[in-house]
Amino acid sequence: LVAGVVLMEMTPMMQQYLATKEQNPGAILFFRLGDFYEMFFEDAKLVSKELGLTLTSRSKGQDAPMCGVPYHAAETYVNKLVKRGYKVAIAEQIGDPKAKGLTKREVIKVVTPGTILSESALQATQNNYIALIYETGEKIVLAGADISTGECFYGIYEGGNRLQMLLDELYRLMMPELLIVGKPSFASALKEFAALRLPHCSFTPIAEVSHHVEDRIVEHFDAATRPAQSEAKEAVATLLDYLHETVRTDLTQLNQLMYLDASENLVVDTYTLRNLEITRNLRDGGKKNTLLDVLDFTETAMGSRLLKKWLEYPLLSIAGITQRLDAVGELVGDFSLRGGVREGCREIHDFERLLTRIEVGTANARDLIALKISLRCLPGIREKLQGAKSSMLKQAEAKVETFDVLVDLLERAIVEDPGISLREGGIIKSGYNEELDEYRRISHDSKAMLQEIEEREKEQTGIKALKIGYNKVFGYYIEVRHSGADRVPDRYIRKQTLANAERYITEELKEFETKILGAQEKIVNIEYNLFTEVRETIKAHLTEIQQTAHEIALVDVLASLAEAASSYNYVRPQMRTDGVIDIKDGRHPLVERILTRDLFVPNDAHLDHQDCEIMLITGPNMAGKSTYMRQVALLTLMAQIGSFIPAREASISPVDRIFTRIGASDDLVSGQSTFMVEMNEVAQILKYATKDSLVILDEIGRGTSTFDGMSIARAVIEHIEKKVHAKTLFATHYHELTDLEDDKIKNFCVAVKERGNQVAFLRRIVPGAADKSYGIHVARLAGLPKSVTSRAEEILAMLEAEAPDAAAVPSAKAAPAAGSAAKAEPAAPAMGSLFASSLSDTLLSLDVMTMTPLEA
Ligand code: ADP
Repeated sequence: LVAGVVLMEMTPMMQQYLATKEQNPGAILFFRLGDFYEMFFEDAKLVSKELGLTLTSRSKGQDAPMCGVPYHAAETYVNKLVKRGYKVAIAEQIGDPKAKGLTKREVIKVVTPGTILSESALQATQNNYIALIYETGEKIVLAGADISTGECFYGIYEGGNRLQMLLDELYRLMMPELLIVGKPSFASALKEFAALRLPHCSFTPIAEVSHHVEDRIVEHFDAATRPAQSEAKEAVATLLDYLHETVRTDLTQLNQLMYLDASENLVVDTYTLRNLEITRNLRDGGKKNTLLDVLDFTETAMGSRLLKKWLEYPLLSIAGITQRLDAVGELVGDFSLRGGVREGCREIHDFERLLTRIEVGTANARDLIALKISLRCLPGIREKLQGAKSSMLKQAEAKVETFDVLVDLLERAIVEDPGISLREGGIIKSGYNEELDEYRRISHDSKAMLQEIEEREKEQTGIKALKIGYNKVFGYYIEVRHSGADRVPDRYIRKQTLANAERYITEELKEFETKILGAQEKIVNIEYNLFTEVRETIKAHLTEIQQTAHEIALVDVLASLAEAASSYNYVRPQMRTDGVIDIKDGRHPLVERILTRDLFVPNDAHLDHQDCEIMLITGPNMAGKSTYMRQVALLTLMAQIGSFIPAREASISPVDRIFTRIGASDDLVSGQSTFMVEMNEVAQILKYATKDSLVILDEIGRGTSTFDGMSIARAVIEHIEKKVHAKTLFATHYHELTDLEDDKIKNFCVAVKERGNQVAFLRRIVPGAADKSYGIHVARLAGLPKSVTSRAEEILAMLEAEAPDAAAVPSAKAAPAAGSAAKAEPAAPAMGSLFASSLSDTLLSLDVMTMTPLEA
């Protein structure tokens, strides 16, 4: 609107601004004016508010709010805005700014959360994905990429739980930007999920699919990796269109397309990923105290990112798992191989991102030095891998190339410790280019010449306090202190007066200056051109270096798993196919690290479709039930990424999914009650679990009344036993359920040692049903005042005396166990009779405000 009204009176420059702005809707326009990027109108208001910049006005009378940032500091500002979800279009001056008339300006890139490449905006151990979702008919297609590392992939989701599968995938990717084609039918569910689980994701609507699908696909990918399905091509091409529009380079780093095939992986859904704290902790979503944290001994950022991927996409196929286990096994056994590989990786920089900077042309001389150092490590790693026996390591040895020619080129061309800027010279080694050396000699000699001039002038004029200096405004000058002013000859031309000196130039000095500055400018230009030549040469080998980088990441991850295995005393799991999971003396990989090994009590687990499909675990709170169940899930998952596991021995059949319903839910969003959320999750489990799944259910049904909850729990177990046949671990404090024991359901409990009213949880899971809840004991541990716990014991004793069944092993008709009394409704008859007694009269007559603790 502002544009329409005021356009007529605007300067050509402002018209140019508005036209550029119009071509880049939805983005804040950073408009280059000399040494600044300026923003106008709404952009200026927004940016000044977001970044705390001063809002000014272009000229008086004209209502054009404006703010600006110096061009050399722009990156920081752009990063901040993008991090907050904005897009920033960068318009540069194209062509000679000194030329007459209006300088041409063009948007050279649009920086968005999913396409940002600034090193300081990216986290080394994390991918920065961008994803696109496209619904077509009964299918949802996901296309994704990380342009900073060169990954590109797609997935297709069909069938009843396609939306859930998609959401789980989005949660794993945790991308900061999601493109949505058209109006998907599940828009509101997506929005709800995003509000809860994708807190930093910004959404970009895309009106329609690409108009040149085939071209895009052919342009980027080899025939071998092109998808067959047209909907996949459409999604990927549409994503590529967007990337080209924003990044505006040829994006050759995107040259491999991967298919995310859910049927090849152990599906780790959002709840499980969260609750088992596999790659992100529950507290703040960070890496600390996660399984990833425990296993991450990687030496490179690429390795760390790959390990995270392995954990989020464990394998299903025994062959794939065994291959990895073989390699890890070899590295565990061969200390020198493992040490050598890790040592070799230590100096390797983030190849993937280096290569992207080379590809988009932002790599500076330091990046090339980093590349050289990295490439130089390759022969050593390859040598170490020679003679390796496992197929993966052998393959890595064959695939790692060494790029001797490039190393030699970098060695000859680039100085060891270059500056950041490419426009100030000092980046190319001498001896690399004759012309450059020649100009450098002139420039170098000039110093001597300058000295000579200075000496001569001193002699001729007899002024001792005379020296030659240089500044940007006046160039070279002769400075004479006021004390020598009377001896200054006529040929000196005065240029500047200082407090205690005068500055002059001479004809000779002016000539000298032209020659020197000419040479310096030449040097800078030649260096810049030589540098870009070198960069281009490397760019031509991008794909090969990328492939080597992948192998390095792989070897790094394998060595990392081996290092974890040998540091923490893990064993190799045997893989089997008969559906049995059998673990001897298993340990929880995280809890044992926090507790230190000696304190951690190992436990067996045996799950078997023949005689122990469902483990029903009863036991007091705080006994270790949920730790145990998580442990079984974590060990299974670890085995399926090819890792050794914390146990004495184990044999494991791969599972297709791990379902978890553990602990308190924090999904209190959109008015859903905790109980509702819990039931939703249980519904998902019953619907999608298969015979090959592993199901972990912790205390389900406790969000409702006792009888309700117990009935639901029982019905769920029965359903799993009759219909689903998944291997299941079920923890409950409903002792009534223990009578479910049959040929497939087996009771377990946590061993407890009791002495007087002291109880020790032995943390050992043993066959049989628990008979007490020890709630009061836990209350004591939690620090409830002794007066309260003693009183609770009195009440418990009374309850037990009045209705023996009620407290110890309540039948379906009786009150809840004492341990859960706090949560349960006081509907039990025993409670009624208690308060009818004279005791309640006594209690009511007490004046609690005046009594001493002792009396209490
Ligand atoms: P529950 O689920 O029965 O209420 P948890 O699994 O939460 O109990 O365990 C309670 C505490 O006991 C945990 O904080 C954990 O540190 C400790 N713990 C659990 N299992 C073990 C074990 N096997 N060895 C040592 N400590 C354990």
